[in-house]
Amino acid sequence: MEQFIYLDHAATTAARKEVVEAMLPYFTNQFGNPSSVYGFAAKNKIEIQKARETIADSLGAKKEEIYFTAGGTEADNWALKSIAEMYCTKGNHIITTKIEHHAILHTCEYLEKQGVAVTYLNVDENGLIDLEELRAAIRPTTILISVMFANNEIGTIEPIKEIGEIAKEKGILFHTDAVQAYGQIPIQVDEMHIDLLSASGHKLNGPKGIGFLYVRNGVKIGPLIHGGAQERRRRAGTENVSGIIGFGKAVELAMADMEARSRKVQSVRDAAIERILKEIPYVRLNGDRKRRLPNNINISIQFIEGESLLIMLDMKGICASSGSACTSGSLDPSHVLLAIGLPHEIAHGSLRMTLGEENTKEEMDFVVDSIKEIVEKLRAMSPLYDDFVKQNGRNV
Ligand SMILES: *Cc1c(COP(=O)(O)O)cnc(C)c1O
Repeated sequence: MEQFIYLDHAATTAARKEVVEAMLPYFTNQFGNPSSVYGFAAKNKIEIQKARETIADSLGAKKEEIYFTAGGTEADNWALKSIAEMYCTKGNHIITTKIEHHAILHTCEYLEKQGVAVTYLNVDENGLIDLEELRAAIRPTTILISVMFANNEIGTIEPIKEIGEIAKEKGILFHTDAVQAYGQIPIQVDEMHIDLLSASGHKLNGPKGIGFLYVRNGVKIGPLIHGGAQERRRRAGTENVSGIIGFGKAVELAMADMEARSRKVQSVRDAAIERILKEIPYVRLNGDRKRRLPNNINISIQFIEGESLLIMLDMKGICASSGSACTSGSLDPSHVLLAIGLPHEIAHGSLRMTLGEENTKEEMDFVVDSIKEIVEKLRAMSPLYDDFVKQNGRNV
């Protein structure tokens, strides 16, 4: 039987069977438009509210604070663009970090062209921001701090509660891109002083093309999409009914077993990390060892090209991701790996593996064996490695 080992859960996940089952009726029998008056369709409005309530409960939020969007990217765009617009009389300065997802970074670049000032905070060698640097960056004109909950490449979990406390103390709104964290680790918006939060369905075994923006009551937010009265007049367009129902189901399931699932994934993950660091020379683990998403492995392997490793893993049926922005057609190393201080040549030899609950210890042993074998092959062809070994011996 052909191997298929999926280790790219940070890119996307499969919808759970129960999620798909919950969605199916909304494509056929229950196709009504939730805005219609007759009971057949209006029932869908009630089902949407139930999903909204499930999601709100998972964050300790109120259901009217959840606005469905077409995904995490849209929620990020909306939060930044709308806060910049609605609070322009208060100020025009936003603070974010150098390691955000492009949904945040490219939105910030757009806003800069519109006259908004943006500070991009540095991170340390593990990807953590410095709270003192954050404090120092605050200006009288600062209207928003946007820091991701956990990084999608290296898995580092930022000090969200502490950031929230600083924002609250200074009277500044706090947005977090929680797309990677939501469903893996507990999030409570009140306790963490979060004013806005983005999440996405397809990263937690829900459908693609659905997400939400949490907006704390009292925070002024205008529409990103103009049209009908859906989502309290803030996100127009006929609701993605099946997507919302599926998202609600995925959240219900993810929250029910989050702790046990995360613990299991983490133990499989940790065993693999231990083997990699012990058995493969000249490898470093990127991201914080402790403050880390349970499913993330990100390593840099010296003297190899991440792309070659990926292709050879693919030939063995292993799906992983590299540290370069190959998806955008460029071979530049990732902005995250550069921000944590990796030199270009080390960043180029990076590999991200993000596990799911279906990945077993046996699979990971096969994966580590495969990486070992491929790395040896690639290094055997590398003149750089050859020179290095001649100069330093094999066991530095
Ligand atoms: C995947 C991801 C997004 C984008 O979400 P989509 O639903 O795919 O648009 C945003 N931020 C982070 C951190 C992500 O991992």
